[in-house]
Amino acid sequence: MMSARADRLVSMSHPVDSAVSAVRTYIEQHRAAFLDDLAEWLRIPSVSAQPDHAPDVRRSADWLAAKLRETGFPTVEVWPTPGAPAVYAEWPSGDPQAPTVLVYGHHDVQPAAREDGWDTDPFEPVVRENRLYARGAADDKGQVFFHTLGVRAHLAATGRPAPAVTLKLLIEGEEESGSPNFRDLVERQAERLAADAVIVSDTGMWSEDTPTVCTGMRGLAECEIRLLGPDQDIHSGSFGGAVPNPATAVARLVAALHDEHARVAVPGFYDGVVELTDRERELFAELPFDEEEWLRTARSHAAHGEAGHSTLERIWARPTAEVNGIGGGYQGPGIKTIVPSSAFVKLSFRLVAGQDPEHVEKAVRAWAADQLPAGIRHEITFGPATRPCLTPLDHPALQSVVRAMGRAFDAPVRFTREGGSGPAADLQEVLGAPVLFLGISVPSDGWHAPNEKVELDLLLRGVETAAHLWSDLADNWRHAP
Ligand SMILES: [Zn+2]
Repeated sequence: MMSARADRLVSMSHPVDSAVSAVRTYIEQHRAAFLDDLAEWLRIPSVSAQPDHAPDVRRSADWLAAKLRETGFPTVEVWPTPGAPAVYAEWPSGDPQAPTVLVYGHHDVQPAAREDGWDTDPFEPVVRENRLYARGAADDKGQVFFHTLGVRAHLAATGRPAPAVTLKLLIEGEEESGSPNFRDLVERQAERLAADAVIVSDTGMWSEDTPTVCTGMRGLAECEIRLLGPDQDIHSGSFGGAVPNPATAVARLVAALHDEHARVAVPGFYDGVVELTDRERELFAELPFDEEEWLRTARSHAAHGEAGHSTLERIWARPTAEVNGIGGGYQGPGIKTIVPSSAFVKLSFRLVAGQDPEHVEKAVRAWAADQLPAGIRHEITFGPATRPCLTPLDHPALQSVVRAMGRAFDAPVRFTREGGSGPAADLQEVLGAPVLFLGISVPSDGWHAPNEKVELDLLLRGVETAAHLWSDLADNWRHAP
């Protein structure tokens, strides 16, 4: 049961008004054609990670561009990058005061082959028990495509010739390969992409019965630290115990990464962290979270993390440091009595709003230098970082997403966050616009796994949400001049 307080916070329960029924009628009339089109797109194996599928990724971009023109977008362009192309579309509202919204998604997919454990061909979509199975059904073609029928339903229900907001779409082709050219593309096209808000449709919600809006994503910084001792492996009898050992040093370094409360012990790491408000903690606590089930999904035998925080807080709203790999010295069969010449550790840091990846890098460098004994040299290499993003619960655009989703789902909408990291943060940073998330996928959809699917009922609720969202945003939020 949800408390009266939460009910007030998300202000739900609309009667089925005429806009809701007009949207539903339009979707019902067009759902068959919509699903046929989506199936056609899903048949294109746009696997960005595999070079032999590069022509398919290009074909997928062209297919989408043609479909967006057919949908009515007056401007549709395929934007080349040094890798796979992105698709850009724009539909001006005609009202200079209307906000501009940029929808982000991706048209490439993860690799998939029948022998990975698929019950059917991953690139031959099938519907079973009201679920559509295919690679990309949920991640992310289904969730991109619901915007096409969504905007048509919005026009049909409102009688408008153009959307109530200026609607832009940026659908990239390399998300599943780590978006190597995305940041450059966004910087180059920043003027065209300018928006008052970014809507990311590449995430999910809590469950079939609990519609949720994600309000933020953690950022990510990663590094490898190499420790160098003797110039080569040396005899442990002749030298061991009398020179520093890099494998011992790396173990001590890792042991010093957290304190006894599982807090990150790197001085300055928590600088700037935006703490959860009491209200956010309450809202997290009200989600129907089953820790036992979560542990089964995690394949872990216990929960563990920063003292004073729940599991959901730890994965959504707290920064972390994780050891991703560690090694050094002899790894072969039997024994080899040496002092190894080197050791390494790979670390990743999930960051939350308020943390600056460059500041974290500096703090980690200073901490590591401080920990190591004389005679152990070290090299630290940081990869490119991803910034965190977070939209406050009372942001007017976030409230619009919540209301639109509530109308589509006829249910109270709760808030979640995303523990992972994504290229949406680049849009926030370059465009200076808040990032909002609109996704209808559920955890059982099997992203990146065999038998990926999307729930057709939820997909159509996504269409409905998009249909209401543009009107709500235009009614409740004006373009900031
Ligand atoms: Zn995705």
